[in-house]
Amino acid sequence: MKNIVLFGPPGAGKGTQAIILKEKYNLVHISTGDVFRFNIKNKTVLGLLAKKYMDQGDLVPDQVTINMLKAEVEKNSNTNGFIFDGFPRTQSQAEALDEFLTLKGMKINGMVALEVSEDVLVKRLLERGKTSGRTDDTDEGKIRNRFNEYNTKTAILKEYYTEKGCYHGVYGEGSIEEITERLVDVFNTL
Ligand code: AMP
Repeated sequence: MKNIVLFGPPGAGKGTQAIILKEKYNLVHISTGDVFRFNIKNKTVLGLLAKKYMDQGDLVPDQVTINMLKAEVEKNSNTNGFIFDGFPRTQSQAEALDEFLTLKGMKINGMVALEVSEDVLVKRLLERGKTSGRTDDTDEGKIRNRFNEYNTKTAILKEYYTEKGCYHGVYGEGSIEEITERLVDVFNTL
């Protein structure tokens, strides 16, 4: 099994690359942001809860997110592995993921991080906001808050996975194809 955390700040290209890589390696792609947006669209209880955080660019509380992630993994018991996109985003999510996978006899093979400068990230998000319909992509204040959440709560996960010897940084600027090639070089080793 190949279980990979695709990591990086908002706008790094995780979603774009995950869609390509899941086909290539026949993996299940779980994007916690997409699952939340699906729930918001369908006005579920989870969606209503998540919306007030997402609208501000804040992280959704850990326990809600962790429970949702576990349910998504459980839905896909027959798979070659998972690409986790946008999860974990806090130390307690990372610990919960490890504990959960260990119970299932699984593990994270690697964290693959897309490294992109903040200037490029802001440009990409504002560009995406023109077509994505995502309010958290159009308002610069919300974008700034998402970076702040990333820098204060999520970025530390680089150390968490480095200590486990499974952090792999990939230069995330350039064309989509160039970045895919760099990711494939790493995926093939995991
Ligand atoms: P994304 O689509 O990954 O950019 O996520 C959009 C928004 O969904 C984030 O700004 C958070 O509000 C929420 N979200 C997605 N994944 C998580 C997570 N692992 N933990 C907490 N909030 C999350």
